[in-house]
Amino acid sequence: MDRIEKSEKEWKTALSQEEFDVCRLKATEAPFTGKYTYCKDDGIYRCACCSNELFSSDTKYDSGSGWPSFWQPIGENSLKYEKDDSYGMLRIEVMCAKCDAHLGHVFDDGPKPTGNRFCINSVSLKLEKH
Ligand code: FE
Repeated sequence: MDRIEKSEKEWKTALSQEEFDVCRLKATEAPFTGKYTYCKDDGIYRCACCSNELFSSDTKYDSGSGWPSFWQPIGENSLKYEKDDSYGMLRIEVMCAKCDAHLGHVFDDGPKPTGNRFCINSVSLKLEKH
């Protein structure tokens, strides 16, 4: 996979303030405020920073968490994972494999068949509708 690497300054220029805060500084959008939380449109969710394919709308579901939730990434190599022990919790952070954008976290209380819940910020996503 071709990596996309930019300096903090370059990202700041390329992104909105909100996108920069979430994707590059790992902030979290407030629950129930993101534009894709309740979105049921068909399409491919791409990385807001580099357009890498991340999730299909086929695997999106309503988790009730207030953030867009998916039970599976679109490809085996589309995401990167890292341990995150901030805020006194042990969580698995989910990032874009191509540009390291912070996307959200993955939990093990998702639906079948995977049992995974990818809890993702709307700000980190760009839906390409079918
Ligand atoms: Fe990306």
